[in-house]
Amino acid sequence: MIDSERIFAFYLLITLGPLVGVWISSGWRDRRLRMPILVKWLYRCPECCRFYESDELLERLRCPVCGRQNDRLKI
Ligand SMILES: [Zn+2]
Repeated sequence: MIDSERIFAFYLLITLGPLVGVWISSGWRDRRLRMPILVKWLYRCPECCRFYESDELLERLRCPVCGRQNDRLKI
């Protein structure tokens, strides 16, 4: 009776052990690859046809190239 329980426990260890290992290692890999979400606001200058961005939510922002005030793009 005890031998059959040991055999069953050994069978579970052999079959589920690699699956648990893969599951844990994939969780670590996903956590390492996860990038922080960056929120940026996009602006377009019609004067010099450039796109530029800002971390702050501003309705108007000065173009870094020509200095013109431009509206935020509505997406
Ligand atoms: Zn510009």
